Amino acid sequence: VKTVNVIGAGLAGSEAAWQLAEAGVPVNLYEMRPVKSTPAHHTADFAELVCSNSLRGNGLTNAVGVLKEEMRRLNSIVVTSADETAVPAGGALAVDRNNFSALITRKVKEHPLVTVVLEEIKKIPEGITVIASGPLTSESLAEEIADYNGSHGFYFYDAAAPIIDSSTIDREKVYLKSRYDKGEAAYLNCPMTEEEFTRFYHALIEAEVAPQKEFEKEKFFEGCMPIEVLAKRGIKTMLFGPMKPVGLEDPKTGKRPYAVIQLRQDNAAASMYNIVGFQTHLKWGEQKRVFRMIPGLENAEFLRYGVMHRNSFMNSPELLKPTYQSKKRNDLFFAGQMTGVEGYVESAGSGLVAGLNAGRLAKGEELLEFPRETAIGSMAYYITHAEGKHFQPMNANFGLFPALPERIRDKKLRYETLAERALNALSAMTI
Ligand code: FAD
Repeated sequence: VKTVNVIGAGLAGSEAAWQLAEAGVPVNLYEMRPVKSTPAHHTADFAELVCSNSLRGNGLTNAVGVLKEEMRRLNSIVVTSADETAVPAGGALAVDRNNFSALITRKVKEHPLVTVVLEEIKKIPEGITVIASGPLTSESLAEEIADYNGSHGFYFYDAAAPIIDSSTIDREKVYLKSRYDKGEAAYLNCPMTEEEFTRFYHALIEAEVAPQKEFEKEKFFEGCMPIEVLAKRGIKTMLFGPMKPVGLEDPKTGKRPYAVIQLRQDNAAASMYNIVGFQTHLKWGEQKRVFRMIPGLENAEFLRYGVMHRNSFMNSPELLKPTYQSKKRNDLFFAGQMTGVEGYVESAGSGLVAGLNAGRLAKGEELLEFPRETAIGSMAYYITHAEGKHFQPMNANFGLFPALPERIRDKKLRYETLAERALNALSAMTI
């Protein structure tokens, strides 16, 4: 069997390498960290989570929950490692970020069919190759990919939220609760009165933003927009977004606060918390000043400040097949965020499909297209069939699934039916 090259040991690349190796195909996995890092990574571990430690909803009434369940059934290293390193997060699957990445690194490195090569790849290699170098692909390789793809590259901006030392949170002021008491109580909630909110809002919109680097123009992804940009849309916007108080009544008073900021446990030891939805591009000193106005965070120590980065993706509807193969070269696959799937799980999911298919090509087997009824297939369909001109990265969502033959008005029942259909379609496949 031919050896397959995988470039990048991030979410997609680790998954692709694992799928290949588990299928009996030898892999050369190239990763540039720690020799060279990206502006958002902090460690040398594989599958590092660059911002939130949440892999989002875990139930089957949530499209990303269905995607995870499909991936579990397909022997995903990312999802099973997340299950093994989970921390409490209500209805979501959040992980201890260090344990999660360490576990994936160990499993991949110890696999007898994986050879890890720590170097920056600057040219697209010959032979069967999966490129999964991520939204922060190093410059030389990014240029090479742009040349290969012609004029079909785009970019936008993503931001990361700050992380706080848990021992510096004032427990008298915050309370433990998950929204609508879903799952176990997992979030620390910082309640605000209307007056506190108004003061905070003005401080936030007037705070100083870090200078833009070589970026030409601001183009944000809606799902990861800096909080100060969201706030500038209007005084009420945050109250319908990350500061939404519904379902978060304060147990001490039984009343719903005017606004709530949630803190999510970031590691198993619960020594770190991140501010949910507070990805930001404020200057570090400003983050400290403004976020210390949040009740309970007056003396907070910041272990990591929020940052903003350019995030690139390609025009996949013009360039890729649903197998994640390049239309121009049968033995070249792309995977991860750069293909226009958005999010950790989605990136790993595309790596899973690309890895499985690169393995099948190496073994002379027929390639697989996942049915559109599955979450994993709906993503592949979206990135290859969306309108190229306005192509935007997309999270897994039920809107990408084909409609049901009958109309079901009840949302929960509709989602459950879509989930059941997806899992049945997956079981019906011979893989
Ligand atoms: P990555 O996980 O970044 O993996 C790419 C790997 O390739 C890296 O290890 C990198 O070091 C390596 N590499 C790059 N160039 C080379 C080269 N030339 N040679 C060898 N190796 C190379 N998604 C979420 O679901 N939640 C979030 O909170 C979230 N926040 C984000 C915040 C930021 C700042 C960014 C940029 C993205 C965020 N995303 C988030 C989006 C996305 O899910 C992540 O970027 C995810 O890591 C993408 O997975 P990937 O495998 O495509 O890339």
